[in-house]
Amino acid sequence: MIELKRSVRNLKPYFVNQVPYRVKMDANETKNYLLSQEPLLEKIEANIYPDSDATILRQKLAGYYGCKPNNIMVGNGSSDMINLVINGFCETDDSVLSFTPSFSMYENYCVMAGAKLVKLECNADFSVDITSLVDKAKEIKPKIVIICNPNNPTGYYIEKRDVIEAIEELKDSIIILDEAYIDFGGESCVDLINQYDNLIAMRTLSKAFGLAALRVGCMIANEAMINRIWAIKFPYNLNALSQYYGAMALDRAYEVAGFVEEIATQRERLSEKLKSLNFEVYPSKANFLFVKHNRQDLFELLSERGILIRKMPINSITYYRISVGSEKENKILIKELEEIL
Ligand SMILES: *Cc1c(COP(=O)(O)O)cnc(C)c1O
Repeated sequence: MIELKRSVRNLKPYFVNQVPYRVKMDANETKNYLLSQEPLLEKIEANIYPDSDATILRQKLAGYYGCKPNNIMVGNGSSDMINLVINGFCETDDSVLSFTPSFSMYENYCVMAGAKLVKLECNADFSVDITSLVDKAKEIKPKIVIICNPNNPTGYYIEKRDVIEAIEELKDSIIILDEAYIDFGGESCVDLINQYDNLIAMRTLSKAFGLAALRVGCMIANEAMINRIWAIKFPYNLNALSQYYGAMALDRAYEVAGFVEEIATQRERLSEKLKSLNFEVYPSKANFLFVKHNRQDLFELLSERGILIRKMPINSITYYRISVGSEKENKILIKELEEIL
């Protein structure tokens, strides 16, 4: 058997819980039925390669994010774009700095690139200190610093002035600012791309737009940066269906605002309910809640009852990440938890 290269042999495949379910609250997906009535393929020339430059989609994204199409590169989810930046910039043994816990895939991309991910612990309450991030960066001189805001899995939101402080202080590193959840109420830093040439913001239609299946994500940065990265972009890297329906979704972006508001309302209600069931609930600006409970077996017990949440072991304590569902779904979760507890 021919083995994978040594540096990647210890990587674990990304965990996806493939069991039957009634309520799915484990992957931060959101249902807003934005395009649920659209017929597939009618508008697509399936025999022709898609627009490699995704011209129309990038125009619409630029309109939505308030930048120029030349500030944007799209890819197969923003994960794909994060991977491209890490692989494009990191030499073997370069370091990448991020907080922990954060998005688990950063580690895989770094390992694939031969880079080393240095993980700076969040505070005990899962808030983060920009000063300690800056100090650590000055010590280890990372090629890239990744800031996930709001952070997955903790939901913690860093104020814009603090993100700016990091960008200002770390001019010798590329800052990947992962804003996958920023549409749920945080303040984006996309407007700063022309001010800071080390800033790359990552955005996606997978979360607030509720289009995870389409895999439309992008990076947003100053034109010189995007042009540089264009050299390593694979041709036709986003399929025609995703480009077409992604663009259509952006035409209806005004519908997303109400939906986001509803999620925020449901999140606060769910948070109160969980607290009344003795959960410790950390403040979240995203579409999920990060929680802790004395009972360490809730993932398994809920799973048996058809409810999927995510379990997150950190320093031998099991935390849970629960995606905020519809009012009905959240009620089912609470009812099952009341029975279990
Ligand atoms: C969901 C998520 C993404 C991106 O998802 P894509 O579907 O690849 O666009 C990126 N970062 C974080 C932290 C996420 O949770």
